[in-house]
Amino acid sequence: MTGRNPIEALARLRHEFGEHGGVNMSIEASSTFTVMEPGTMPAMFKGLKGHDAGCYLYGRHFNPTVYHLGLQLAAIEGTEAAYCTASGMGAISATLLALCKAGDHIVASNAVYGGTYALMNDFLPEKSGITTTFVDITDLDAVRKAITDKTRAVYTESLSNPTLRVADIPKLSAIAHEAGIPLVVDNTFSPLILSPVDHGADIVVHSITKFISGMSDVIAGAVCGTEAFIESLMDLHAGPLMLLGPTMDPKVAANVSLRIPHLPLRMAAHGERALALAERLEEFGAQVCYPGLDVHPDHGLLDELRCPDYGYGGVMTVDMGTETAANALMSKLQNTYGFGFMAVSLGYFDTLMSCSGSSTSSEMSDEDKASAGISPGLVRMSVGYTGTLEQRWQQLRDALREVGKQQTAA
Ligand SMILES: *Cc1c(COP(=O)(O)O)cnc(C)c1O
Repeated sequence: MTGRNPIEALARLRHEFGEHGGVNMSIEASSTFTVMEPGTMPAMFKGLKGHDAGCYLYGRHFNPTVYHLGLQLAAIEGTEAAYCTASGMGAISATLLALCKAGDHIVASNAVYGGTYALMNDFLPEKSGITTTFVDITDLDAVRKAITDKTRAVYTESLSNPTLRVADIPKLSAIAHEAGIPLVVDNTFSPLILSPVDHGADIVVHSITKFISGMSDVIAGAVCGTEAFIESLMDLHAGPLMLLGPTMDPKVAANVSLRIPHLPLRMAAHGERALALAERLEEFGAQVCYPGLDVHPDHGLLDELRCPDYGYGGVMTVDMGTETAANALMSKLQNTYGFGFMAVSLGYFDTLMSCSGSSTSSEMSDEDKASAGISPGLVRMSVGYTGTLEQRWQQLRDALREVGKQQTAA
C-alpha cells in the first residue's frame, strides 16, 4: 500500500465535458482530422506538433477518445501515460516488440495467460528470434540467474493465471533494475487491488476485456508506462501500435470509459463474494485456492502490497482431482443450478468457470503445466456478484456433494 489514491486521480480527469456540455465526454468518431494551415501537417509528421498540442493526425496514431480512456488507465495505475488497444494481446505484443529486437531475450513467469505463453514460446522465437526463459516467478534466485546480457525485460502477472501466486513486485523490480531492464506486469487480475508501478514496476499491461470491462461484451487492452515509452509505441517508423495496428475503436473507448467510475464498486463486490465462498469451501473441505485465505502461501505478501479497499480479487480455483470430476462439477453448476457459466474469460458480473488445463492453459505441454502447478482437475472460477451469497453457496455446496457421491459410487 502506498499513499497514492487512484480514485482522486480519476476525479481530477473529470474536466473533459461533452461537446454540448454533456456530463460525459463526446465520442470523437473520426478516423482523420483537419488542420487549419497547410504547414501544420508536415510539422505533425515530423513530430513537432502532436496530440498534446491538440493536433491529431490519424485514428491509428492517436484518437482523443481512446487517449482519454488511456488517461483514466494511467490514473488508476499511477503512470505518466497509457494508451488503449484493441485487445490485451495487442497491448502485450506491442510492449514486447517495443522492448526487444531480433535476438533479444525475455525472462517470464512460467504461469502466464496461455496466449502470452504461446506468443513468447512459439510465435516470437519463430518470427523474430526473440526468446524467453520461463521461471517460477516466486523463485527470485531463478529469476536472477535467468537474466543474460540479451535480456530486455522481466515479465510477470501480478496474480498468476490460474495458479494465483502473487508476484513479489518490489523484489522483482529490484532484480530487473539491477540488470538495467524494466519489469513488465500484466495486472489484468487485480486492477485497483494492486498497483504494480507503486511497488517498482515500469510497465503495466491490461486485458480490459476482463474486470475493467466487467460485462464480457468487448475485447480491449491497455499499456501503461512513461510518456516516452507510450509515445514510442506510436512512432511512425518503429512504433508497434502504429505499424501493427491493434487500434481501439473510439466507440469502444467511450463505452469502457463510462465503466471506470464503478470499477471500484465492482472489484470490491467480486472480492467480497469470492472471499466468502472460498472460506465456506475451505470449511467444507474442498481443495480451494484463493489469496484471501490465511492458508494461501502468498496471503501475507498480498496483504503487504494490496490496497485494502478492494479485497483479494475475484478469481479462485477448486481442484477436483481429475478432469472428469471438474467437468461434472461445472456441468452441474451451469445446467442444474444456474450458478454460473462454463466459459473462459473472467471479470464478468456472473460467475465463469473453466478447467484451465484443457482450456486457457492448453497451449502449455503437460510437463510445463505440471511444473506451473496446473493440475488436470483445476476449475478456475471468476466469481460474479449476482444473486445472494446464501443462494450461491447452496448451489455450490449441493453440486459438490452430488459430484462427491458420484465419485464414491464409481
Ligand atoms: C485474457 C487475458 C489476456 C489477453 O487479453 P485479450 O483481451 O483476450 O487479448 C492477457 N493476460 C491475461 C492475464 C488475461 O486474462
